[in-house]
Amino acid sequence: MTCLLIVEDEKPIRDMFRFALLRTEFSLLEAEDAQSLWTVLDQQQPDLILMDWMLPDSSGIELTQRLKQDEQFAKIPIIMLTARSEEKDKIQGLNAGADDYVVKPFSPLELLARIKAVLRRTSQQNTPQIELIYEQLVINVESHQLHINEKKIDIGPKEYRLLKHFMENPNRVFSRSQLMDRIWGRNTYVEERTVDVHIRRLRKLLSPYDYQQQIQTVRGAGYLFSNKSQQ
Ligand code: CA
Repeated sequence: MTCLLIVEDEKPIRDMFRFALLRTEFSLLEAEDAQSLWTVLDQQQPDLILMDWMLPDSSGIELTQRLKQDEQFAKIPIIMLTARSEEKDKIQGLNAGADDYVVKPFSPLELLARIKAVLRRTSQQNTPQIELIYEQLVINVESHQLHINEKKIDIGPKEYRLLKHFMENPNRVFSRSQLMDRIWGRNTYVEERTVDVHIRRLRKLLSPYDYQQQIQTVRGAGYLFSNKSQQ
């Protein structure tokens, strides 16, 4: 199933759209404001986002810019929804990185057609897949998927980023504060033990395949990913 996320504070519009998606190949996630958008994205990565222009706690433009600047979300196509129809707003939306633009009120069928067109276009644009590989551990940085022994592994966004960062920089020690900057971002405040929590989750996730030992604790310094085979 293709997963759509609608970010829209007007419940009737979300309801109408959810109804329109019944018996289609699409499933729907919903967020009513910016805060719930980030909560949803922490759990699941949608295939496309429908972004309302005016939200109670942010603007769709601002959120679109933030998503497009974020490595993890930059590839998700975004269609802006707005009541405004002026040309300059359209340009502003597209400049922010939106892939298309639909003016309210829209018919659900028209929106569905636009969604399919954007998905077709963006999947064609996708560059050849790039992989980070250590033995049977394979990260696809395009699809944000982890495979071990050719089996797809469910991995949380923070654990994914940690593992990707480690695999891009093998055998290099990173302190907790470096990891906080790189994984959580400089502007987010997290406690150092949060890093430990996610390292623990990552190890737990790798342990059935015996790869937990690649994530090594360096006493007094931090963590590293060892790409040396374990005997
Ligand atoms: Ca609105």
